[in-house]
Amino acid sequence: MISDKSIFAVQKTKQAIFLGSDIFRGSVYGKGHPLNIARVWPVIDICRAFGWLDDSCFETVAPASASELQLFHSADYVAALQDAQTHQALDESRRQRHRIGMDNNPIFPQVYDRPATAAAASMRGARYLLEGRYSTVFNPSGGTHHGMPDKANGFCFVNDPALALLTLAERPDVKIAYLDIDAHHPDGVQDTLSSHPRIKLWSVHEENRWPRTGQPGDNGGGQARNFTLPRGADDDAFLTVMTHHILPEIEAFAPDYLVLQAGCDGLSDDPQSGLMFTTTGYWRSIEMCLALAIPTMILGGGGYNPFTTARAWSGVWGLIAGHSPYKADAPHSVQDILTSLEWSHRLARSRPDRWVTRLYD
Ligand SMILES: [Zn+2]
Repeated sequence: MISDKSIFAVQKTKQAIFLGSDIFRGSVYGKGHPLNIARVWPVIDICRAFGWLDDSCFETVAPASASELQLFHSADYVAALQDAQTHQALDESRRQRHRIGMDNNPIFPQVYDRPATAAAASMRGARYLLEGRYSTVFNPSGGTHHGMPDKANGFCFVNDPALALLTLAERPDVKIAYLDIDAHHPDGVQDTLSSHPRIKLWSVHEENRWPRTGQPGDNGGGQARNFTLPRGADDDAFLTVMTHHILPEIEAFAPDYLVLQAGCDGLSDDPQSGLMFTTTGYWRSIEMCLALAIPTMILGGGGYNPFTTARAWSGVWGLIAGHSPYKADAPHSVQDILTSLEWSHRLARSRPDRWVTRLYD
């Protein structure tokens, strides 16, 4: 049983930075797509309305260049993504090869600029950690963990977690831990980085859920660690895996840096998984990671209910910045932001009050 009392008191720190961009305010994936929802700008606006985010801890990022993306992606793929944005179309052979404009990876007006901005934030965040300029970086636009070097995959055009990990690994002799608590397995990260000698990957995700990789015991041909939870798993099940397995293993690895993919599609109100976490369990897991006191980058990831995602990720920044979200009722200014969110999903027709009146479940 989980009490509502915080396990760890997170120290308020000025050494945290929130990376964002206005590109997430105006761009959408297109009608009918699960990501055709607002996710990043509501978090920024809610955190500002709570007084948790001022200009001193917020930075705007511009899209990464093609050469920067080639730290992970092939030159042909990056060129195809640029061409897809320029022409809003791609020739059939490159569509087939790179899966751009295929498989729920739609061509939309900012199909290069938007993911390249998320990637730029993750790479800048990695450099900030290396420089010691900040101890915690938050990039809710990041966490696109399915992207492959030569193709789009699972709504992910650019793999910003991999780019963050590779940027950190450019410094010799440092060890980096990657933890992924998204409901889906990070196949793009595992496929490419599980054999890296100084990067170790952990994932906890729903069993038998797309992409169906990351079975227990699957080490990705390297040293990846995978834990699965059954459909319906709650906070207790999730936090038991965290406290009994994952966190002790990360501590034993003694990494210099932690990259945490904090996809919130395991929350019970999210339509893309069968996991039943509450915001309490989700935030506890974030606090446990912050309590490791390792320079950490926290990324977004899955999150397909705009109300739930905005509340969950605002709470993550609250924790980073030293404010408790566990009993955070929404003032009118925050309620106005939440009620303005649009969602065409059938679940929105019976919207519970808590989706707009408070951050916690
Ligand atoms: Zn996911």
